Amino acid sequence: MINRLKYCARCRDNYPFAGVKTMSNKEIAIYDCALELWGHESQIDMTIEECAELIQALMKYRRKQGDHDEALESVIEEIADVEIMLGQMKVLFDFQGNKVEYAKRRKLRRLEEMIYDAKGEG
Ligand SMILES: [Mg+2]
Repeated sequence: MINRLKYCARCRDNYPFAGVKTMSNKEIAIYDCALELWGHESQIDMTIEECAELIQALMKYRRKQGDHDEALESVIEEIADVEIMLGQMKVLFDFQGNKVEYAKRRKLRRLEEMIYDAKGEG
C-alpha cells in the first residue's frame, strides 16, 4: 500500500507538487486499510455523512442553541471526522499526482489576492 507514495514523473510535469507529502506514511496506510476493508463506496458514503454532521454541528453552533461549550466541542469533533474522511478521499482519488495539493495552493493564492483586493492593498 505504501508504494502509492512512489514518485510519478508523468504527474510531476503537470502537477508540480507531485511527491510533496501532505500525509504521513502511517496516516496513508490507515486510510488505505479502511478503504480496502469497507470498500470505496462505503467510505464515500461515510464522507458524505460526516460532511452532513459537520454542517449540522455548525448550524447548531451558529444558532447558539443549548450549551455553547458542547456545540463548540461538536464542531471540533466533526471537523476531525471530516478531515479523516477527506484523507481517505485523497488516497482514493489522488494517490499519485497530488492534484489536491496543487488545486489547494492555486486556490489559496486566489484567496490571498481576493483578500488584498478587498483590503485595497492589491
Ligand atoms: Mg461525525
